[in-house]
Amino acid sequence: MKISLQQHIYFFTLSTGLLFTVLVGSVLWSTQVVEVALERENYANKVENHTNILKQLLINEDIYASDYNTDNWLVLDRKFNDLLRRNPSLTPEQQTIQNSIESQNKNVQRLFNTINKNQLKNADERIKKHLKTRLITQLEAIRSDTIQLSSIVQKDIANVIKQQIIFILSILALSLFILVYGAVKLVKIFSTSLNEVKTAFEKNRSGNFQKIQLSNQSEEFNGIANAFNNMNKELSETTISLESMTKIVAERTQVLEQLSNTDPLTKVANRRALFERGNDEFSRVQRSKNPLAVILLDCDLFKNINDQFGHLFGDEVLKNICKVCTEEIRSIDFFARYGGEEFIIILPDSGVNAAVETAHRIQHALADHGIAYEGKNVFVTVSIGISTVNDQHIDFENLIKDADLAMYQAKENGRNRIEVFGDNIVYEW
Ligand code: GH3
Ligand code: MG
Ligand code: MG
Repeated sequence: MKISLQQHIYFFTLSTGLLFTVLVGSVLWSTQVVEVALERENYANKVENHTNILKQLLINEDIYASDYNTDNWLVLDRKFNDLLRRNPSLTPEQQTIQNSIESQNKNVQRLFNTINKNQLKNADERIKKHLKTRLITQLEAIRSDTIQLSSIVQKDIANVIKQQIIFILSILALSLFILVYGAVKLVKIFSTSLNEVKTAFEKNRSGNFQKIQLSNQSEEFNGIANAFNNMNKELSETTISLESMTKIVAERTQVLEQLSNTDPLTKVANRRALFERGNDEFSRVQRSKNPLAVILLDCDLFKNINDQFGHLFGDEVLKNICKVCTEEIRSIDFFARYGGEEFIIILPDSGVNAAVETAHRIQHALADHGIAYEGKNVFVTVSIGISTVNDQHIDFENLIKDADLAMYQAKENGRNRIEVFGDNIVYEW
């Protein structure tokens, strides 16, 4: 059963109030019980005193004297009767003694009246003495009963006080137990539930969208947990975890990097990628002192191709040059579109001979692979300039400049040629 915390607190307060009332009630009741016991003791003492007075009166006064006045006796006797009549409530055991006292008191009255009425003043002294002795004996018996009553009452008082103390202590212990139990339970519900909510928030913060599982059920915390779980559900549906976000960003970055390094028409590396790789290679060469060659290719009379066959066909020619070049170079070489109909190949660990050889292969391949146009094969040629790294080069761009000069040399010398910068050797095909 789900009980709200508010109900818990109400229930707890109510039981505390109830226990307090019971405690106060039992203290009052115990006081009353003790009071009754004390009243009985007081009564027993009074009865004993009165008996003594009556006895003393008999001993002191000559009840057979001709001028004896019975008034003293009658007043005392009436008081004694009143006292017995107004006895407090007694236990059955005490009541038995009370009955005995009452019946003996009747005997005393009867005997006194007999003595008084029969005018025994002139009677035999032995009879007088006998009757007076009987009267005193009777009072003695009453006194003995009252002593008995008194001792029982006193014993009862001790018992009553003991019982009431045990009773109050039991109620007190029970109250304390219930109070402590209730308080501990409430504190436990609060602290456990708050901890569980706090943990869930912390997990949530680190992207771990977990439900709150409360170990203590209460309406209030269940409400918080439900609201949190609903929010969490929505968040987990709309939030991408850090891990998948990192993956997506990495993938997108890779795509963007590829796009920014790729020529959109020919899909080969663009000028940006060329310089990135070229600068790397140039720096490496500075350290290793290994050779490094660059080939620059420029399509011969490409404008004419565009004019003659159209721009789209020109595009196809450019793609074909790329295909041929990438097939003819090594895997460690790097091919890129330098611009328009110009291309560059970086050849790491290569000197002039290796570069010329590669350029030659490309020239041959282009001569072999024409591009079909309306049933005919169109062939293109390229003018090639080559440069290799030397001490005068300050950067990669510098190296390209030399290859460019060599390429112009090739153009000037009639196109479809290979020229090496700083070299008079001319390769012709
Ligand atoms: P040369 O032998 O002296 O190099 O003659 P050329 O006609 O090749 O020289 P020029 O540099 O004057 O012409 C290059 C032409 O290449 C001009 C331009 O329209 C064309 N071109 C540049 N980029 C593209 C392209 O992406 N597609 C096509 N179809 N044509 C291009
Ligand atoms: Mg050009
Ligand atoms: Mg050209």
